[in-house]
Amino acid sequence: MAAPHAAFFATRHEFKRQMPGRIVGVSKDSRGRPALRLALGTREQHIRREKATSNICTAQALLANMASLYACYHGPAGLKQIALRIRSLTGILAAGLQRLGLEVSPAPRFDTLKIGLGEDGAQRILKIAEAHQFNLRVIDAHTLGISLDETTNPAEVNTLFRIFNADKIPDFAVSDLAGEAGVPAAQDGDRTSTYLQHAVFQQNHSETDMLRYIKRLESRDLSLTASMIPLGSCTMKLNAAAEMFPVSWPEFGRIHPFAPLRQTRGYQHLFEQLEQWLCEITGFAGISLQPNAGSQGEYAGLLVIRAYHQSLGQAQRHICLIPTSAHGTNPASAVMAGMTVVAVGCDTNGNIDLSDLRSKALMYESSLSCLMITYPSTHGVFEETIREICDIIHSHGGQVYMDGANMNAQVGLTSPGHIGADVCHLNLHKTFCIPHGGGGPGVGPIGVAGHLVEFLPGHNVINLGGENPIGAVSAAPWGSASILTISWMYIALMGGEGLTEATRYAILTANYVSKRLEKHFPTLYRSRGLVAHECILDLRAFKNVTAEDVAKRLMDYGFHAPTLSWPVAGTLMVEPTESESKTELDRFCDAMIAIHAEMTAVESGAVDAKNNLLKNAPHTADQIANDSWNRPYTREQAAFPVPGLHDYKFWPHVGRIDNVFGDRNPVCSCAGMENYSG
Ligand SMILES: *Cc1c(COP(=O)(O)O)cnc(C)c1O
Repeated sequence: MAAPHAAFFATRHEFKRQMPGRIVGVSKDSRGRPALRLALGTREQHIRREKATSNICTAQALLANMASLYACYHGPAGLKQIALRIRSLTGILAAGLQRLGLEVSPAPRFDTLKIGLGEDGAQRILKIAEAHQFNLRVIDAHTLGISLDETTNPAEVNTLFRIFNADKIPDFAVSDLAGEAGVPAAQDGDRTSTYLQHAVFQQNHSETDMLRYIKRLESRDLSLTASMIPLGSCTMKLNAAAEMFPVSWPEFGRIHPFAPLRQTRGYQHLFEQLEQWLCEITGFAGISLQPNAGSQGEYAGLLVIRAYHQSLGQAQRHICLIPTSAHGTNPASAVMAGMTVVAVGCDTNGNIDLSDLRSKALMYESSLSCLMITYPSTHGVFEETIREICDIIHSHGGQVYMDGANMNAQVGLTSPGHIGADVCHLNLHKTFCIPHGGGGPGVGPIGVAGHLVEFLPGHNVINLGGENPIGAVSAAPWGSASILTISWMYIALMGGEGLTEATRYAILTANYVSKRLEKHFPTLYRSRGLVAHECILDLRAFKNVTAEDVAKRLMDYGFHAPTLSWPVAGTLMVEPTESESKTELDRFCDAMIAIHAEMTAVESGAVDAKNNLLKNAPHTADQIANDSWNRPYTREQAAFPVPGLHDYKFWPHVGRIDNVFGDRNPVCSCAGMENYSG
């Protein structure tokens, strides 16, 4: 339904540190070569919490990449040619409509026209248009809007002439008008400066070159095609080919989000089924598919809670309690929703400190809006007092918002509704298999209990949502509608029993890793000796090797790093999911155990504290092949530390990145390194 889509945003230097989302900046690696990395790492919302200026986490990275590749393929001249053609065709359309005696919005124009049709003319034209399979934009009862793009052809413009001529072919066509109207005069504001001057926009204008360019970029990516990506709470599950298939069908991809409902019955059916399934999975009464990511679901859910309190005459309830272990988007979303965040502490076992929760709930009794809580907790355990926690909040007039990022440990076994939560978002791009490598797109639907259904998000073009909706949280009525097909496929293929089995297996794999590694890396938090679907490996006992060193070294072993130093600094959080086989789990554990031996050698002083396998990781192919190799370890130890790597080796493309240099250069225009300050 034309979504998901990416938007771009630019600012002057002075505001760069307030920008939302993730920013790719530039640094240099251990070879002095340019290396891109996420900039402002320490400023992003995970760290800033309630001081964040944005709650964006999962974004539209894939779509942004598609748009950039479009610019690479066409280059500056190609883009200009496309734009001129659109402008020319729009001019021709305007001239033809004027010839038919219609009132057309005056020049300057680019791709869009407004057409005045007199008393109730819009409906008359729409009817004819629909018979020709055209949808036009209704501005009001007597005005229609048309936008052309590079896919519009002259035959379609001729059909538009016919539509606006009471369905009769007029006595002129595009070819008759091309001369006079097709060459718009130069306009004020026409751009004369150069643009897209970087080499990447000049090089790949043939499909073969483009194919190789994209493949080269892909080969630098340590993706799910090479290893597990065991990111705690940000599950990277298998995105099965069968699940992905329907996204590319034109029946899903080429429908406008505002298309009349009678034209989108298939989509409606899919939405209804998916909502019904997600209600069953969450134990809730209603679902909104509108939010585009978990963070947006949080925002929508909190607005629903606020609307509920307002409806009871309790508009003063603005306090949002959030445990210190919560994901950074939680406090950021609460602030975006106009709430005041009050932190609740955790005990030494990583659980919410119940006495602190009780006293804060009481202290803010008259202004308590809600608690935001993650279950299983971000510490990777099923918090045993979860129901008591919900009861405490309810008894003080508050609502319970559950962060559903960890639903992979609940599906089929328990549910937010069963536990006592009132609202929950799901990350369909985590638990329900939409790929989100590189940062998105996502879908973050919210589920709500019966008393909140009336407040579910609405939309001002398409009628949906509750009876007293909070308004829209996305431009498109069903958010990133086309990728809902992926989650639909996953649930349909798995079935109830399959989903429950997947949850059991996900919990089993996490416990397997936790147990197999416990003598080398103890798991920080457990409950009755067990974890939920993820385990936090504690590396803090090591003094001369950091968790970051291990994350980098894992790349030499062919593994993507687990979640680093979150939610606890100096740890790695591992979530294998049900997608990984025992062979892959063992390959990972073997790598971690081998790295443990390398760490021990550093700790004991057996090897140099600075110049060693860990501090120099990752090792690139050109470093290994360099004739002046002078490291105190062998090339084989660096690049092929375990035998399996001889069979398949992923070569890291950049060496160790200079973080400090990167912090000073948050903006990358991809010019030469001499342009950056060191
Ligand atoms: C991923 C995640 C979020 C945010 O969801 P997005 O879709 O990235 O916006 C919130 N909480 C937890 C625990 C998460 O893992």
